[in-house]
Amino acid sequence: MNREQTRAEQGPADRAVAELARTWGAEPDGVWTAPGRVNLIGEHVDYNGGRCLPMALTRVTAAAVRARDDDRVRLASDDPDAEPFEGRLSDLGPGGVTGWAAYAAGVLWALQQAGIEVPGMDLAVSSDVPLGAGLSSSASLECAVGLAAVELAGRPEDPALRQLLVDAAIRAENEVVGAATGGMDQTVAMLAADGAALLIDFRDGSTRPVPLGLAEAGLKLLVIDTRVRHALADGQYGQRRRDCEEAAGILGVSTLGEVTAADVERLTDPRLRARARHVVSEIARVDELVALVRAGRVAECGPLLDASHASLRDDYEVSAVELDTVVAAATAAGALGARMTGGGFGGSAIALVPERAVADVQAAVVAACRERGLTTPVTLAVTSGPAARRLS
Ligand code: ADP
Ligand code: MG
Repeated sequence: MNREQTRAEQGPADRAVAELARTWGAEPDGVWTAPGRVNLIGEHVDYNGGRCLPMALTRVTAAAVRARDDDRVRLASDDPDAEPFEGRLSDLGPGGVTGWAAYAAGVLWALQQAGIEVPGMDLAVSSDVPLGAGLSSSASLECAVGLAAVELAGRPEDPALRQLLVDAAIRAENEVVGAATGGMDQTVAMLAADGAALLIDFRDGSTRPVPLGLAEAGLKLLVIDTRVRHALADGQYGQRRRDCEEAAGILGVSTLGEVTAADVERLTDPRLRARARHVVSEIARVDELVALVRAGRVAECGPLLDASHASLRDDYEVSAVELDTVVAAATAAGALGARMTGGGFGGSAIALVPERAVADVQAAVVAACRERGLTTPVTLAVTSGPAARRLS
């Protein structure tokens, strides 16, 4: 594993170890990390049997864990809003845990449901994935905790175990947290290949690394965190899923991933037609972008990002004024393309930017938000990092 990445993960790891000592007075048996992610393209298609292209970040959640001899589970985070949780292995299921601890406890519950003999444990986490920014701090938390638990349960690492962890993390978020997320985040956190984006095909769950070649093309991928999250995000996410299920039902298929653009036009309800049009066009854009990247033409991907944003804004209606503002400003300042990323209603956008234009784009998105009286966004250049792993 490359040394720079290990250094990047050391900050959260050290803080998790310190938190474990401070809150639970324990020395860790080990420290596990799992990455946040940014989705390049393929938004709101995971729950529609589509394809998407996320990339694991070098930013991670670290979990420092000490196994216990009894059935107690004690969870802490150094996030100032996160209260410590104490319970028993048998109390971690739906309805048993609320707040941040549900993400961690939910994974321990789902692993037990899958037949893993999870030990009692003292655990502390720390993350440098910004929380609630659309970079999937939630899946990184679930996956760091999940990998720690299976290793402490004595299960050897193999590909089947990683898939089991993906499924457990999804169950935790869907059934214990109660967030209807579709599986992209957990899949890339567990299965990412270092140095590449990950093409995930939700028809069969298969994954394939796609090296982007950004550095070779003189390009940077910028994440622009609007630092805003509108309260309607969670309810609207579920509503979009229901719209898609209804549209698929009318068209007589199990997911919208199976339909064509011509099928979409058969939907008479304008709202359902627009939702389905986004899904079908977005999946086509994923395929086009992957083809361009594989042909060494990553610098030509900008218009696909722009089209994805327009589709999410106009057909899927999940953008926000902050996202529209930074996307327009980034493009005007020299980005080749830009789009909102993640679930929407705030969170982050991405921009594909020639190295020489990075400073201009950074300045432009800040100026545009200030001008409109919006929260000042934070920009970071991101590179791809490895999947969840044991750090020490
Ligand atoms: P995202 O996954 O885009 O960051 P979510 O709303 O899905 O946004 O997940 C954010 C939530 O996950 C936080 O509000 C918190 O409950 C939980 N969470 C994630 N990381 C941590 C952490 N290190 N400590 C405590 N809670 C965390
Ligand atoms: Mg999340």
